Amino acid sequence: MPCPSLLEFCNRNRLGLTVSLLDILYYPDSQLRRNAAPVDNVDGKMVSLIDQMLETMYAAPGIGLAATQVNIHQRVVVIDVSEENDTPMTFINPEILLSEGVGEMQEGCLSIPGVYETVKRSEQIKVAAIDREGNPFELEADGLLSVCIQHEIDHLNGKLFVDYLSPLKRNRIRKRLERWIRDGADLDELPDRP
Ligand SMILES: [Zn+2]
Repeated sequence: MPCPSLLEFCNRNRLGLTVSLLDILYYPDSQLRRNAAPVDNVDGKMVSLIDQMLETMYAAPGIGLAATQVNIHQRVVVIDVSEENDTPMTFINPEILLSEGVGEMQEGCLSIPGVYETVKRSEQIKVAAIDREGNPFELEADGLLSVCIQHEIDHLNGKLFVDYLSPLKRNRIRKRLERWIRDGADLDELPDRP
């Protein structure tokens, strides 16, 4: 079966860690609009947050999660775009150093369930960040990984992929999600249009 969307897995494995899952915030929660603070120190508490974020991302399932999405306003992102879900990546205080070209891809978001829209972003990027061990690194990315990194860094800045859509479309999505949250309705059964 083909992957239904960019930010979902077809097959997923758990990490095998025994950590509890974190609650994901849903659009239009105002907490998703907060600007996350830089991380000063990669200590044990930070490592366990990273592990919990990874577990939450795999369980969702998704291929990227920003701390903002679990209501923790620190600049931390986890990503795994591998087919086997065996290549977890951590980006602490990520910064895009270079970006080149323009590409389009269909995106989804764990905070905006059931919505997939095409978004234009830079094709290739170079990013600097700190890893789970506290070591700085630089990485060049294109394709899915590039899109995913840009999408997750947006979260840290309070920005969502629906912000790239027209106000009309965004409003429609917001109303749909509000109905889903309020009524507990099945997302698949909600009409696209209010
Ligand atoms: Zn997202």
